[in-house]
Amino acid sequence: MKIIMLGAPGAGKGTQAKMIAEKYGIPHVSTGDIFRANIKNGTKLGLEAKKYMDQGLLVPDELTVKILLDRVAQPDCERGYVLDGFPRTIPQAEVLDEALNKLGDAIDYAINVEVPDENIIRRMSGRRACVSCGATYHVEHIPPRQEGVCDKCGQDLILRDDDKPETVQNRLKVYHDQTKPLIDFYSGKGILRTVDGTVDMKDVFDAIEAILG
Ligand code: ADP
Ligand code: ADP
Ligand code: ZN
Repeated sequence: MKIIMLGAPGAGKGTQAKMIAEKYGIPHVSTGDIFRANIKNGTKLGLEAKKYMDQGLLVPDELTVKILLDRVAQPDCERGYVLDGFPRTIPQAEVLDEALNKLGDAIDYAINVEVPDENIIRRMSGRRACVSCGATYHVEHIPPRQEGVCDKCGQDLILRDDDKPETVQNRLKVYHDQTKPLIDFYSGKGILRTVDGTVDMKDVFDAIEAILG
């Protein structure tokens, strides 16, 4: 099963993608996580990507498409995957489509997690991410058992640099301008499914399970 998660920054794509990955036994592929791992390791790709990420801008398609296509060509992706944060532009979606087409393959579902802009800023300022394993929490809605400490691995939780309100505004604008057109793109292919992302994370997942079966 090949799934794409769509939605504004902070809509809960990552949270749901991790639950999908676990239930259906497919890898969770997040371009944001790949970039952050590269930044942490000080790679050339990381240095380049950071320039854009810190401003809330998209990393150029050329860089992003290459790392994504390399990732989904790995053996663990043979049985499918859930993409989180990719595609984010129409050209990215077209490249992915063509690459799958060549293999006689296609995306099965694009799941749009819908959350109004008003809710987003609050979501992002409360997001905390584990420096080590990438688990995400929310200080009010999904708190860790112990403040500032990851439930899964015991490492520190941090506020991401790009989750500060000024940067979130830019990211929302970029979402509306460049990413939202993907809703029509996948709707036109007949694979778009929309779920309400404002309800409890378990209820969002119930809605997704009803779609995926
Ligand atoms: P969020 O989950 O909050 O939407 P991500 O972790 O997906 O954030 O992305 C963080 C940043 O990484 C983005 O603001 C952008 O700069 C960069 N990024 C991630 N995925 C892509 C992509 N597919 N195309 C371009 N830039 C990307
Ligand atoms: P995205 O990957 O779309 O940027 P995340 O999955 O990282 O979004 O979620 C953004 C923030 O909102 C995180 O702090 C997360 O813990 C929290 N969150 C996710 N789903 C819900 C939900 N259904 N209700 C409340 N908060 C949520
Ligand atoms: Zn952790």
